[in-house]
Amino acid sequence: MVKANAYGLGVIPVTQTLYAAGCREFFVALAHEAFDLRPHLPADARLYVLNGLSPGAEGPCAEQDIIPVLNSAGHITRWADQARAQGRPLPCALQVDTGMSRLGLSPDELDAFLAAPPQGLDIRLLMSHLACADEPDNPANGYQLKAMQRAMERLPNVPVSFANSGGIFLNADYHHDLIRPGIALYGGAPHDGQPNPMQPVARLDIAVTQTRTVPAGAHIGYGGTFIAEREMRLATLSAGYADGLPRALSNRGAAWFDGVRLPILGRVSMDSMIIDISALKPDALQAGSFVELIGPHQSIDDLARDAGTISYEILTQLGSRYFRHYIPVSS
Ligand SMILES: *Cc1c(COP(=O)(O)O)cnc(C)c1O
Repeated sequence: MVKANAYGLGVIPVTQTLYAAGCREFFVALAHEAFDLRPHLPADARLYVLNGLSPGAEGPCAEQDIIPVLNSAGHITRWADQARAQGRPLPCALQVDTGMSRLGLSPDELDAFLAAPPQGLDIRLLMSHLACADEPDNPANGYQLKAMQRAMERLPNVPVSFANSGGIFLNADYHHDLIRPGIALYGGAPHDGQPNPMQPVARLDIAVTQTRTVPAGAHIGYGGTFIAEREMRLATLSAGYADGLPRALSNRGAAWFDGVRLPILGRVSMDSMIIDISALKPDALQAGSFVELIGPHQSIDDLARDAGTISYEILTQLGSRYFRHYIPVSS
């Protein structure tokens, strides 16, 4: 899954790394993401558009060897029409809804399709998506698997893709022919609140712009929502909510330095935030020092929990003002 700029990490370097590791099937959400990515992919890489055929995308998708996921009767008709216009079968994936009510054919729509399948569709994958795979004990997973098995009986001989990250770690019944990991590839925990079997892939260090000592009674940040109860040492960091550090971290989250937790004080601003560095030695930090926001002491899941969100949102919001440095994978 390389949708949303590969979960915020940079679709081109991430895709090239995954290709070098052997991946040949790539998924984005929107047609224009696929148009941007296709020129960077080798010809033997297959590129799917999860949200299907937006109006007008039929011709460009066919010409650029992009495979739409057909999610509705309308998508099916328009892709079959395009195949007729091109005079050749066109590849597609067919999605069925197994209990999420988001994308894909209902069982009745699948029946209607199979009763009169149009010419020209080369169905490469039968797919569906799990709604609750991050909760391994949720009975919805089993219900969705049964619904998937019913769809598979109706379309035998078509390769099947079902599991996202959470689904992969449920059990092998969910694996089928092609898995579609997203967050797990990027180091997020596939199962909510459980030990994470994946290694982190991203770290985020933020520069200190200023340090200062404030007296008891000092108001800290917009709205003065934190008032120092004693003399404190503060550092102002050069990133804020415009860089994807949620404002919900105001007076909640922390940065880390040298194994010490440095609480965020007051509101997160657009371009900066203030942390308490009283626990560090006086000269430990100065302008230009870096503190850890994501790294060995604080995972994307930790930061997400403090912000009341999920690791997916932390990654996909990572700002465009950061200097991004890619470390080659050692093989
Ligand atoms: C985003 C997405 C995935 C990947 O989900 P993760 O939970 O990040 O692994 C897989 N399949 C579909 C259809 C998706 O939209």
